Amino acid sequence: MDNPVPLPILQGMDTDLIIVGGGLNGPALALATAQAGFRVTIIDALPLDTREDPAFDGRSYALALASKRLLAGIGIWDQIADHAQPMLEIKVTDGRAGEGPSPWMLHFDHAELEEGPMGYLVEDRHLRRAFLDAMAATPGITHLSEQMVTAQSVDASGASVTLASGDVVTGHLLIGSDGRQSGTATRAGIKRMGWGYDQTAVVCAVEHALPHHGIAHQFFMPGGPLAILPLTGNRSSIVWSEETARAKALIAMDDADFLDALRPAFGSFLGEISLTGARFSYPLGLSLAQAFVADRVALVGDAAHGVHPIAGQGLNAGLRDVAALAQVLQEARGRGEDIGGTQTLARYQQWRRFDTATLAAATDTFNKLFSNDNPLLRGLRDFGMGAINAAPGLRRRFMREAAGLTGDLPKLMRG
Ligand SMILES: Cc1cc2nc3c(=O)[nH]c(=O)nc-3n(C[C@H](O)[C@H](O)[C@H](O)COP(=O)(O)OP(=O)(O)OC[C@H]3O[C@@H](n4cnc5c(N)ncnc54)[C@H](O)[C@@H]3O)c2cc1C
Repeated sequence: MDNPVPLPILQGMDTDLIIVGGGLNGPALALATAQAGFRVTIIDALPLDTREDPAFDGRSYALALASKRLLAGIGIWDQIADHAQPMLEIKVTDGRAGEGPSPWMLHFDHAELEEGPMGYLVEDRHLRRAFLDAMAATPGITHLSEQMVTAQSVDASGASVTLASGDVVTGHLLIGSDGRQSGTATRAGIKRMGWGYDQTAVVCAVEHALPHHGIAHQFFMPGGPLAILPLTGNRSSIVWSEETARAKALIAMDDADFLDALRPAFGSFLGEISLTGARFSYPLGLSLAQAFVADRVALVGDAAHGVHPIAGQGLNAGLRDVAALAQVLQEARGRGEDIGGTQTLARYQQWRRFDTATLAAATDTFNKLFSNDNPLLRGLRDFGMGAINAAPGLRRRFMREAAGLTGDLPKLMRG
């Protein structure tokens, strides 16, 4: 784990925070901490032009209201606001392909929340671009692209990482935002638990004849949930989770066959549909780090907790890690404490670990309960949905949860 040879310090690379992983949570943390006066070096394995390519990732994210506040707080919301579709209502139904939704339905309407829309749909290409531009414009951030971290080392005074090029970066705290297979966690000796779901999400965007009115739909199908999420204009993002073998077949189809397969599940409520771009696939699983911190190491985002997208909460949970860690670090520095010290990191872990374990358990249970055609479970879940729908207090609680407004909110998410 620890590198046996003393590491030379590369000129000009000495930094407060070393962030490994420039996906989405890494850049958010780089901005939040650099704006608070920390020197930050963020490292990502991919070349910059890959990240800048609009076809790099087909996902759109349902960003909770609390996440929107964070993005506004770190100064990038203005750049994406024109591309963000407010999520005004959510309709959840139990369905079977060809049968349409069951009469049991859960309906969440933002009009019942005083804070406004529960969240916003933002396409990856706009979010990523905004992060890259903001990082380039922020003094205090050194962004190393196309650099793979291959080793790390910590001691009482600091942490260092070695890049594939042989260069070394040293800092006070090493942060792993390097995704579900986090090498930062592995090298720090942090074990993971989790499993695959034998499900793959097929993701694409469609254009439709009729307006969506800002309504997000979730249909629970036997193979997995189908989410239809409103994008700007008459467009929606599809996240179609299916058993992996079926998902592979869906990806292999030509566009016309794929649309023929999608239509019975999608329904006709938005009129005629057509594809507006490529299809992408993402294997689904649960991957939870058994600790979020180790000596001079902290994990954020999927490196700490990779969950099923059934509730659209993975990135939201990661951004909450970001806001919490940025606040813990700022407060530690204000008290003159070591930002990589055990006490500082324990505060971060205590704040975030229980929340994310609960989210992981909830998404895992929902997926198991809903991704099947067992008549008993179907009856149970339909009864449950009907009961929640009939109880305004419960409905409101679910909406506040989806908007990210519950629990101990970090300052950056309070608006
Ligand atoms: C189909 C689908 C739909 C989703 N929808 C939603 C949604 O609606 N709302 C929501 O909140 N969440 C959603 N999520 C979850 C969300 O996509 C993830 O939580 C989020 O993308 C994780 O970002 P990250 O920055 O933590 O990790 P990643 O995006 O995985 O980034 C990790 C980065 O680390 C880099 N890296 C790894 N190892 C190294 C190394 N050794 N050296 C240098 N760099 C390295 C990689 O290049 C990569 O760029 C969805 C997920 C899926 C699969």
